[in-house]
Amino acid sequence: MTKAVLEKSAARHIFIPKRVFIEPAALHYELGQHLRDYFSAEGIPVTVTGSHNRIVGIPGKTPQEGFFEAKRTLVIGVRKGKEFQTCKPSAHYQLPLVTSCPGKCEYCYLLTNLGKKPYLRIYVNLDEILSRASDYIQEHLPRETIFEGAATSDPIPVERYTGALKQAIEFFGQQEHARFRFVTKFTDIDSLLEAKHHGRTRFRFSLNTDYVITKFEHDTPSMTERVAAASKVARAGYPLGFLVAPIMIYAGWQQGYSELFAELDRVLDPLSRKDLTFELITHRFTRRAKNNIQEIFPKSQLDMNEEYRQFKYGQFGYGKYIYPKESMSEVKVHLENLLNRYFPEAKVEYLV
Ligand code: SF4
Repeated sequence: MTKAVLEKSAARHIFIPKRVFIEPAALHYELGQHLRDYFSAEGIPVTVTGSHNRIVGIPGKTPQEGFFEAKRTLVIGVRKGKEFQTCKPSAHYQLPLVTSCPGKCEYCYLLTNLGKKPYLRIYVNLDEILSRASDYIQEHLPRETIFEGAATSDPIPVERYTGALKQAIEFFGQQEHARFRFVTKFTDIDSLLEAKHHGRTRFRFSLNTDYVITKFEHDTPSMTERVAAASKVARAGYPLGFLVAPIMIYAGWQQGYSELFAELDRVLDPLSRKDLTFELITHRFTRRAKNNIQEIFPKSQLDMNEEYRQFKYGQFGYGKYIYPKESMSEVKVHLENLLNRYFPEAKVEYLV
């Protein structure tokens, strides 16, 4: 791949792996063969590996190097486990399509969940995965079953290679008793605009202020690019959702979130506001997350000073540090004002 092509792709936040690993079993599937041939033809090294759970061969002498190299590594495998992970409280099950993400947000929850080498993993046995989803739907009848497609990943950056999300969206489009949802920060979404979703997939975008994106995210699209992509998605008739997270308090934060909502208001047409959801989450961290962040991003300026936070005991013994009550109230008041002013008809799923 030429330098010019790589630079252009980086500017558009298109994920191009530096190396690919593929399980032998994946080569029994058409998609596996196609991906091997495609990446080989692009001049990207493709190595046949033993198991997608034990990848050796990602370079990196330090935890940082290992992390950044893993973020440019794609592993293609076959999902063998029959059961899906649950995904409470927002959905019943995680739909296992993709793991990890090429973005490098300093606050990312995957820093704690995916270990030291968070390589991207995709599966080629999509038909089997969707067939298992179909069994779950049958088991839960007459209740509706909800599947989450982004519980351990951002699924958009690899979509151009797999078409997995489109296949899942069209599968759920045919299901009377199921719904699908996922969230992304990326804007390479054009291939999904034509998908026959029949309104059964909620397409959510994760947004933040320009300040937070510029300072704490790396290799993700800007706020205005995401809002523009959301507008395209809304025009394609998808139910739309916004996850505003992590909401941070910094000098000028009110102004930042006001600008974000004003931009949404400017770009979204009236039709897309009819079935709109918001999820709003203030910044929080665990001690474990803080240690991981400081190891990978030693110069991070994320505000993680425990002294200015309130400790909240969580499930499974992992306490988290949240903003103190007074700051929390200020955030709630400001965000509620913005919601009432710009999107009074939207459903606020939670503001925590
Ligand atoms: S885009 Fe999302 S999943 Fe990817 S690194 Fe950033 S927070 Fe994590």
